[in-house]
Amino acid sequence: MLIFEKSRPGRGCSTLPACDVEVVRPKERDKRELKLHMPELSEVELSRHYTELAKKSHGVNDGFYPLGSCTMKYNPRINEEIAALPGFKEIHPLQPEHTVQGCLEVLKRSEEALCEITGMDAMTLQPAAGAHGEFTGLLLMKAYHHSRGDQKRTKIIVPDSAHGTNPASAAMAGYSVVSIPSGPDGCVDLKKLREAVGDDIAGLMLTNPNTVGLFDKNILEITDIVHECGGLCYYDGANLNAVMGTVRPGDMGFDVIHLNLHKTFSTPHGGGGPGSGPVGCKACLAEFLPSVRVDGEEVLRLTKAEHGIGEVKSFYGNFLVVVRALTYIMTLGREGITEASQNAVLNANYMMHKLKEQYQMAYDEVCMHEFVMSLSDLKKSTGVSAMDIAKGLLDHEIHPPTMYFPLIVEEALMVEPTETESKETIDEAVGVFRELYELAVKDAERLHNAPVSTPVGRLDEVKAARHPVLRYSFDV
Ligand SMILES: *Cc1c(COP(=O)(O)O)cnc(C)c1O
Repeated sequence: MLIFEKSRPGRGCSTLPACDVEVVRPKERDKRELKLHMPELSEVELSRHYTELAKKSHGVNDGFYPLGSCTMKYNPRINEEIAALPGFKEIHPLQPEHTVQGCLEVLKRSEEALCEITGMDAMTLQPAAGAHGEFTGLLLMKAYHHSRGDQKRTKIIVPDSAHGTNPASAAMAGYSVVSIPSGPDGCVDLKKLREAVGDDIAGLMLTNPNTVGLFDKNILEITDIVHECGGLCYYDGANLNAVMGTVRPGDMGFDVIHLNLHKTFSTPHGGGGPGSGPVGCKACLAEFLPSVRVDGEEVLRLTKAEHGIGEVKSFYGNFLVVVRALTYIMTLGREGITEASQNAVLNANYMMHKLKEQYQMAYDEVCMHEFVMSLSDLKKSTGVSAMDIAKGLLDHEIHPPTMYFPLIVEEALMVEPTETESKETIDEAVGVFRELYELAVKDAERLHNAPVSTPVGRLDEVKAARHPVLRYSFDV
């Protein structure tokens, strides 16, 4: 039931003090023409409404959440405690700099830590999400080429194993996209890359580990080939949790990178909450970074870069996400950061190994932090699709893996267990996957009808796509 349907005129839960200023009535022309619909509920009704909604959803605190490419790991509570400190939470972006020195120090230390982790020379914390970071990074590359009087580079190479946002960001930044295929090993086809490079190439965007969960074994050769043609190399580091503390994109020849603080560095996400997609770059690109930079030693201040590409977000981005990320980095420390990524890789390989007795893997190789299964054989023999298995998992209180992505794998299920899950949880999930496989063989119909225990059963997805109901009709 929607909150509007529970509403009763006159109910409410506010007690305002008596008005002690002069009452100002809006002018007739400023008034709304339609009635403003605000739900009117008592406090207990309101509280129950949201508790009920919360019970219907599945989050990391409810159970296993192996949504590939999204890194739904547990976000330590200490991050929230620190981000809730009044000195961080209650600042105003226009406050004089001398009153927010601590906050500026958070920004500076975060930039330094992320530069060290990625092997970059400079960092901006302004972008609000991964895709926003990609767009920012591409504008840096463009500014670099243009500053050298090189206007002819109008194309970006994007391998077909890239995250979907990569080609979209390149197009948004005004580039045309040259897609190159992966080889049978899931890595970039070097021959095709050599054919694609030339003096019209601004650069290459590489998602690594790529969307099939593999670390490209030819990575040094890839960056060399692109640099030789005068292009720059962009590293999509949204999934850095597979490699952080072990290797650094800056050392592999990459010039620009974005990170997803809301994935790798543990800010809750998935409900559409604020994110942060910092962009790091090598010194040759630093002068083009978005305008607001933290500067100074003893006294910190915000400065505007002369040649910067301009601001991509107001002020210095989503500050409290940065606070959480810095808390996470400082809690883990140098060893902890490395251990986190090692455990992410270990958990994924353990789970893949256990599952491959039944399920077909898209690439039967050592994976990074996630792996991709292909259910096309199962579908041919039983009629049970990746979608059916995903729906079946819901009845066991497991969030489904990412489905039908990457596009280069048929009937794909992309599983990312993350480093914060225990062996017991993973074993339990493996048991459920096995049970569903057996059910597919024995009683496919049951899986076609799953889920049966969730607040909402199997949806008619075609109808939802063709006739979406996105607005609530009030009877005015
Ligand atoms: C999640 C992800 C992105 C996009 O990040 P958003 O914050 O959702 O914009 C880009 N690339 C990869 C590899 C990702 O996993």
